[in-house]
Amino acid sequence: MMHAAVRVRFAPSPTGRIHVGNLRTAVFNHLFARHNKGKLLLRIEDTDRERSTPEAEERLFEALRWMEIDWDEEGDDRFYRQSQHRDRHMEIVEEWLKKGIAYRSDRPTGLLGGGPGGKSSGRSSGGSGAGSAGASDAGGRAAGEAIWLKTEPEDLRYDDLILGKQSQPARQMQDFVLVRSNGVPVFIFANAVDDADMRVTHVLRGADHATNTFRQLLIYRALGVEAPRFGHMPLIVDKQGKKLSKREGDPESLIYLDEFRECGYLPEALFNFMALLGWSPEPHAGDDGEMIFREKLSRDELIAEFDLGRVGKAPAQFDTVKLGAMNYDYIVDRLNHDEGSLIAHLKQDVRDEGLDPDQFDDAQYGVLIREAAQRARTLKELIEKSRFFFLDRVEVNVGYKMVRKAFANDAVWSRLDATIAKLEGIAQSEWKRGRLETAIKKLAEELAGGKMGDIAQPVRILTTGGPASPPIDVTLELLGRQRTLDRLRDDDNRGRLKMNDTQGN
Ligand code: GLU
Repeated sequence: MMHAAVRVRFAPSPTGRIHVGNLRTAVFNHLFARHNKGKLLLRIEDTDRERSTPEAEERLFEALRWMEIDWDEEGDDRFYRQSQHRDRHMEIVEEWLKKGIAYRSDRPTGLLGGGPGGKSSGRSSGGSGAGSAGASDAGGRAAGEAIWLKTEPEDLRYDDLILGKQSQPARQMQDFVLVRSNGVPVFIFANAVDDADMRVTHVLRGADHATNTFRQLLIYRALGVEAPRFGHMPLIVDKQGKKLSKREGDPESLIYLDEFRECGYLPEALFNFMALLGWSPEPHAGDDGEMIFREKLSRDELIAEFDLGRVGKAPAQFDTVKLGAMNYDYIVDRLNHDEGSLIAHLKQDVRDEGLDPDQFDDAQYGVLIREAAQRARTLKELIEKSRFFFLDRVEVNVGYKMVRKAFANDAVWSRLDATIAKLEGIAQSEWKRGRLETAIKKLAEELAGGKMGDIAQPVRILTTGGPASPPIDVTLELLGRQRTLDRLRDDDNRGRLKMNDTQGN
């Protein structure tokens, strides 16, 4: 699908934190614009003066920069600021008031059913206008009056680029508010006028806005301009199929961009993952005719392949396991293509954790990321899993059953002493994975009937503090000779293991 002059926009409201749903909207618009060699415009929808803040706005720019979502600038301004077009919005309603297609009324605006027949007139007006209806502002407008668009019952239809044919029956038609009694244009009105003024051709936004579209179609009609095409992206849901929202107190529940950043998700991984929230590339037929479903795509591939026709209607599941796996793949990619920046990033995180990042060189960081981090999902998890490498000493956790089990047999101590003696014989310059592995294998043959675990597990526990770590040869290589030997001889840990052994049984 090629459009000669695609113009889309990302129109965030600068209130609060940035939810992944907003980000997905930005990603889809970016991909659609770049795929069609069109324009992506940015509009800051800051008409809600109470909720919009400069900080939230700054966060938005920072997020777009970080995700490398660039937009096109037009005219003298880098972006379109909705609040600066308030006069334009008011000019339009004034014109509609004159034409008689809009009118003022002080009936409550929050209630549905306030249609042409005044169906809601029997209901209480709440507190909103009742006490102030008599007061007038400088313009002579009654303070409690909102401006409404007049409608006639009719069936409304449009063809959604994603949802397909949409319709709203005539009986649901009702007049609606354009400008609130406080003089602020409502979202659907300002949003549609701005889209018309910015000559937006496609409105791609979340499915939660689908019901706004019918009223916006009436606004375009009143404006006398052709409405853009609409495409409503599927809702993002969690594993249980519920709308993705914050589960308080659950560290796994991430929904805001800053949280993903802080945990060490890479922007390229998030971008790829977001692109798959509702969309998937066309599968390719492999050599043997089998379909290949790809998930990891570069930015260029995403742009080349993005197609609204492949955006589904079904809710998109936010699969954190998939995101984690993808992030790890991108961490390794970064290591291959831009080692310096990744290691610098990791070092900063290590420093932030109060650990000394300079005890490893770049080659060692490479080993740490590739082999010692055991498919860590994030940079934060990578540090968590490798913490023991950075500490001066570790404290063995004797609470673990697997730890106690490894030391249950008295023979372990003599085997450990033999292991220490053997490792002492390996010179600093030979302290490498291959050499270490051979030594441990040999010990296993000599002392444990070939069972590597009988040698490696006690070593692992004393050197890392726990029963799980990367392969023992990688672990010891990274720890280095001196640290390994010091930890194997640590009297405090040995004492506690011995005590626990006798007490526990
Ligand atoms: N400011 C609205 C939002 O963030 C824009 C909706 C739209 O794209 O039309 O949800």
